[in-house]
Amino acid sequence: MATRAATFTAKIRNLKDYYSRMINNITPLPAGMDIANTLKYFSQTLLCVLKDVPFIPSEVYTHRLRDNVRLSMFPSLNYSGLYEGVLNIIDVVPLVQHGQHVLGESILNVLGCLAPFLEYDLLDTLPYIVASALAVFPDALQSDVVDLLCTNLLPITLGYDSINEIPNYATESTPAVLMMVFQYVSNPEHHSQVLECLMSMKKNIAKDLLSIIAFGSPVAKAPAVNLLFYYWPQLYPPAVDRRSIHYQYSSWVPVSCQREKKKCPNSGNVRAIKVCLDPSIAIECGDRPPPLHACSDCCNILQKNDGCHFLLDLVQPHENISPVCENKNCRSTNREAACTCFAKECIRFNSNHPIRYCATCHQIKHENSEGISHVYHQSLPQIWNCDADIRHYITEAIISLLKEAQPLQEKRTVEMGEERIRGPHFDDEEGDDSEQGDDRKLLSRYGIWLLLKLCPVKEDVDVIVLGRIMAMLFQWYDATAYLPDGKQQTLLSHHHKTSVT
Ligand SMILES: [Zn+2]
Ligand SMILES: [Zn+2]
Ligand SMILES: [Zn+2]
Ligand SMILES: [Zn+2]
Repeated sequence: MATRAATFTAKIRNLKDYYSRMINNITPLPAGMDIANTLKYFSQTLLCVLKDVPFIPSEVYTHRLRDNVRLSMFPSLNYSGLYEGVLNIIDVVPLVQHGQHVLGESILNVLGCLAPFLEYDLLDTLPYIVASALAVFPDALQSDVVDLLCTNLLPITLGYDSINEIPNYATESTPAVLMMVFQYVSNPEHHSQVLECLMSMKKNIAKDLLSIIAFGSPVAKAPAVNLLFYYWPQLYPPAVDRRSIHYQYSSWVPVSCQREKKKCPNSGNVRAIKVCLDPSIAIECGDRPPPLHACSDCCNILQKNDGCHFLLDLVQPHENISPVCENKNCRSTNREAACTCFAKECIRFNSNHPIRYCATCHQIKHENSEGISHVYHQSLPQIWNCDADIRHYITEAIISLLKEAQPLQEKRTVEMGEERIRGPHFDDEEGDDSEQGDDRKLLSRYGIWLLLKLCPVKEDVDVIVLGRIMAMLFQWYDATAYLPDGKQQTLLSHHHKTSVT
């Protein structure tokens, strides 16, 4: 034991040495492969430690056990020192001349292996840390990052029963995780994968999307608003063209079976349908940290041979968002879907795909002692009668979308509070609007739609909110009135009729 702990500590010193050589440019610079090999030592050691633990209760993955209860099962090695060492190495990946890919891969792998050994203060930071690695890792690793997030780090930091009651670093960093994914990952399949993974565990994801729309980077804004309207189609006003212009939604593909290829009857080529939470079996089955995702054949084998009881159904992709209630026994007169539920108890009636309910069925299913804990997502509230914080996000999201219509130079002028000195639009704008610019301007229509849906005209509304939105609306009108496309004007006059007069 003492030798293992000593080697562990010595290898952490190696990591530190690699880091300082890279940072201070001391030759010979370590190759990506050298650092990767050191990291592989840690992955293997950690897996061995997990294998040696006689019994790991499955509660480790379903309840938030106290740090000392969970960590007392493991031998004392310098886990937090390794955490710091690996975080440093993430920073130097762009400086590595050769072997960036293999280094990135081994960083992701070691973080997955390390996760069960970390106290929550450190563990809860991992989703954001791994998501921000997207900014420095080679593009070819994007899908590995997303897989690690969705199959490992997000479930073990957010997949607890009480996660929606007690905020912590992991719950509060979800908008940042989403923003990094929208910003740096090019494949829209990965956007929906991370978003649905979060939707299956955390309530109020709409608020995260609204905050990205309101305050996020321009690149992240387009996926955020498109996905908001995709998963909440009730936000569309009736009879508008729903074809998306800036963004193509794409459904995600569940991970393949993770059991060892030799053992899996399908050689690991078939989609996983269940996740095994029994750590000892999960480790035995694959050369990877638990939990283990398994195909249906492997699930049968595991159940028969190991008497494994900790197999949970995986939530399947939410590819077709039904506009109406999907409850087979729905007797409601208004069947428009108003709620999407991701809870196991509800989705098993829908082949484990998330299920959409009308307002009445939502009440029947969820307003009782059991259903109340389901993770479901309801329609957004109207801006005038909701909590102050959600009102803030809706207002800022609408304003941020309407601003998209302004020419960049002008947007800056308005934001800097400078006086606008310019001639009529057709003088300075004609001809220099790129196609992309027009495309971005069209993002502003989502702002109008949110306005129509969430800010209906009423007496006694919050004057400050109303004033800000109206001021922005006039600027939007000013910016779009001369666009060749007539759509905005049609929308605006519609809005005038319904709310301004
Ligand atoms: Zn399999
Ligand atoms: Zn199992
Ligand atoms: Zn219904
Ligand atoms: Zn439910």
